[in-house]
Amino acid sequence: MRPAVSPPPTATRVSAVGSSPVREILALTARPEVISFAGGLPAPELFDAAGIRAAYDAVLAESPHRVLQYSTTEGDVDLRTAVAARFTGRGLPTEADDLLVTTGSQQALTLLATALLEPGDVVLVENPCYLAALQCFGFAGARVVPVPTDDDGLDPEALEEIVRRERPKLLYLVPTFQNPTGRTLPEARRRAVAEIAAQHGFWIVEDDPYGELRYDGEPVPWVAAVPAAADRTVLLGSFSKILAPGLRLGYLRAPAALRRACVIAKQAADLHTSTVDQAAAARYLRDSDLDAHVAVMRAAYRERRDALVGGLEAALPAGSRWNNPAGGMFIWVSLPAGLDATELLPIAVKHEVAYVPGAPFFVGEPEPGALRLSFTTHSPDEIDEGLRRFTKAIEEASSGR
Ligand code: PMP
Repeated sequence: MRPAVSPPPTATRVSAVGSSPVREILALTARPEVISFAGGLPAPELFDAAGIRAAYDAVLAESPHRVLQYSTTEGDVDLRTAVAARFTGRGLPTEADDLLVTTGSQQALTLLATALLEPGDVVLVENPCYLAALQCFGFAGARVVPVPTDDDGLDPEALEEIVRRERPKLLYLVPTFQNPTGRTLPEARRRAVAEIAAQHGFWIVEDDPYGELRYDGEPVPWVAAVPAAADRTVLLGSFSKILAPGLRLGYLRAPAALRRACVIAKQAADLHTSTVDQAAAARYLRDSDLDAHVAVMRAAYRERRDALVGGLEAALPAGSRWNNPAGGMFIWVSLPAGLDATELLPIAVKHEVAYVPGAPFFVGEPEPGALRLSFTTHSPDEIDEGLRRFTKAIEEASSGR
């Protein structure tokens, strides 16, 4: 027999984009002994399993022929109606037909990339930026250009200068409780960003999976609500952080022509999001009180954030910086010069504590001392213990220098 000829290799875009270092770190830190500040995971003990189960039971008992069948690409009309009512109630008038249900908000990013981007197109991102968005734009062959940020998020002056130079097709933003920094873009900056988009003609993708997890202060209006850019802003939402990420349910609110393009892209991707999952979510929104459930999560997460922020002063070496985000899941830490968060991670894991180094979130030159801490999945006591372990790891790393 002649030797078999190898099949061709995978497309270069796979190796060019690469696997998410965050997912790899999560695998490494999944041991139960590890106190992990790494994952951006909702607290599993807070899932409303009984309410979700009741919703599945109800739709499967009452309309099995419908909920087990193929359905429309746009998504369950009851679910879209309920989501539209939530947007409208929060100051952003929305109809069911303005929405496309997606398989997690992550899919919305892929659909937008497919619908909008040609290879070589420029996408502007906050620096640092949500990692899986970088992967997604990378797969589309986009040239990703970073926009500088400060403690209040994206800097509009820097944005304008970069826009003049780069002529971007879109700007990707997580303006509220950003991943990885926890930062929130103030209202004046949102207006400035919208004006720049209006003047220079580019799309804004406003990704908002964390906005409902607010622990202090008042909500800031969405960029999508600023009239100047209403015709060019796509707003993404998700049930992952307020209900359960395993449902893989998100939604996209976009101007009609772009939404139709995303529908076509979604037909090719997965025909539609799971019929039964959408029906159960719609039923949950009808029969259960999602806002009351979110209030329970908010109270628990506020306490956990306070435990983590409150412990950092004693836990971190002099010269460290960190923020105290008003919501979301993440605190952004900068260790003093000489400490590299990527090099420190294996030492931390040896001490059974974990976090995500900041480096992979940067486009271009990373800040070596930056790291992301998530406070959602541990009790205040576990957080205190995690910080004691982190201090020991830093001491070990510093003594070895
Ligand atoms: N956008 C951001 C900023 C995120 O942090 C995440 C989840 N980590 C997603 C989108 C994707 O969320 P999902 O697909 O679960 O809705």
